[in-house]
Amino acid sequence: MKKVFKNILLGHFLLVICSFIILLLSFDINDANSTQINNNTNNIPVKRPLNLFNLEESADTIFNLVQKIGAKPVANIKKTRLKKNENLSAALKRINYENYHINKIINSIRKLNKGHKILSSLPVGMMIHYSKPSSITGAALKLNYTKTKDIFVWQDINDTYNSQVFLRPTRMEETLIKGVIKSNLYISALKSGMPENTLLEMISLLGFSIDFQREIRSGDSFEVLFTKKIDALSDLVTETEPIKYVSMNLSGKKLIFFNYKDKFGLPQYYDENGKSSKRTIMKTPINGARLSSRYGNRKHPILGYTKMHRGLDFAAPSGTPIFAAGDGVIEKAGWNGSYGKYIRIRHTGTYKTAYAHLSGFNKNVRVGKRILQGKIIGYVGSTGRSTGPHLHYEVIKNNIQVNPMKIKLPAGKNISKADFNNYKNHIEKIINLKIVLEKSNRNNKIAINNHNMSKKLILN
Ligand SMILES: [Zn+2]
Repeated sequence: MKKVFKNILLGHFLLVICSFIILLLSFDINDANSTQINNNTNNIPVKRPLNLFNLEESADTIFNLVQKIGAKPVANIKKTRLKKNENLSAALKRINYENYHINKIINSIRKLNKGHKILSSLPVGMMIHYSKPSSITGAALKLNYTKTKDIFVWQDINDTYNSQVFLRPTRMEETLIKGVIKSNLYISALKSGMPENTLLEMISLLGFSIDFQREIRSGDSFEVLFTKKIDALSDLVTETEPIKYVSMNLSGKKLIFFNYKDKFGLPQYYDENGKSSKRTIMKTPINGARLSSRYGNRKHPILGYTKMHRGLDFAAPSGTPIFAAGDGVIEKAGWNGSYGKYIRIRHTGTYKTAYAHLSGFNKNVRVGKRILQGKIIGYVGSTGRSTGPHLHYEVIKNNIQVNPMKIKLPAGKNISKADFNNYKNHIEKIINLKIVLEKSNRNNKIAINNHNMSKKLILN
């Protein structure tokens, strides 16, 4: 009787010692983490999506998992990464696990749902946290085998091996990135900390308005607001949500777009006035004109023989205003042989439009100048090889004239009048969020500077 009591006492004593060791070690780890400067701008609690597998949340250290799950105490946690051409058994052998334990561990993982598949597809470089079994401590492994999941393998009080999949906790972080272009938008954006998929998103949504090949100058600046999904254990970005707000300052000209979901729930982008970011090219860049000659083969009215007509002719009185068919940059404005007085606008890297036989140019039209869709660029005339006043209009795709009637550019719908108040409220929220983030970015910078300052003081 006395002997049993003594054994229980000894057991308790050992447990207390173990707990003490664990406590000491976990303090150590916490301290190592606390030196990280938190760049969080705005943390929003994550509403966890309905989890079909009912996975529990993972923890940052094996200690915490052991406590959570009630496993045999562990000590002396180490980590390694799965090497190339190495399976889990080989990795465990490399870190001096005994075969007996390796087999138990592998069998335990095999029993998991799709365990065989998991074991055969563990990624190279996978982080393995481990504690080796000893007479008083249990074996424990934490495998970060996907972006979102960990496998935890542990020995319980009876030394039996168990495995369970845990979901890694995430947090959402609103992020505002500002940058100035030094030589190249791509490099400058990545340097400013923009994730690559966000950058590609930005380029595709601004592509209707900006010719990235030619219009970007050193000193131009950009701002992007979006939400990052971050692995709360590793602090790494695992996903990004669609851009909420983007602005680009091109030599003083500012483009701004806000994300707003259309009736199908898809993200679309509009400017402050509700105009869609998706611009098409006007098929008829003139008012009150009659289409007098279509695109295609025709008998040339002056030359007399059949010739391909690579544009549209609009008959209109001399002096009738001609509009820019889309936003773009004036590439040519002047005399151009048989075209007479001629204007060419470059809209994107792909599309250009040309206007011929003009009587004159608008005074604002100069080569290299940006022009907005619908602005008057010149007036109908009969200059060059022409039989009477008309506009000869061409759409040029990759430097080849195409039929303007057949171009299919996505034309975005603008915000409807009925929805405009909702839209205004929506963008006001985004603007307010941006102001909050600007403040917090500034505070972070001050905090980081102060941190560095105090470091220097200590060093001195
Ligand atoms: Zn023509």
